[in-house]
Amino acid sequence: MLALLESGFARTALEISSAVRIPEREVADHLVHLEKTLRSRGSKLTRLPAQCLSCNFVFRKREKIASPGRCPLCKGEFIAEPSFRVEIRTAEVYNSADHSIRLKGKEKK
Ligand SMILES: [Zn+2]
Repeated sequence: MLALLESGFARTALEISSAVRIPEREVADHLVHLEKTLRSRGSKLTRLPAQCLSCNFVFRKREKIASPGRCPLCKGEFIAEPSFRVEIRTAEVYNSADHSIRLKGKEKK
């Protein structure tokens, strides 16, 4: 699971669950554990929030890993699921400006 997330691509809970063969509802627990491991190594887990693909509304406050059903603004149902990836500290420091730009433009799959 760590290797999957360290590949640099954001993964949704569903993608993680199918890749490492754990139920989707257990992914959250694994992520909590993983987050601690990463922090002790100086890396961190980044959560990319869910986003409406119709109006680009971002579900920033939403902590759950499950995708929201529909958009509160436009009522659209095309929602990009929240996803997760690992930021490795050395890369982050070296490349931080570039990272933040990519984060902003990277909500769509
Ligand atoms: Zn919307």
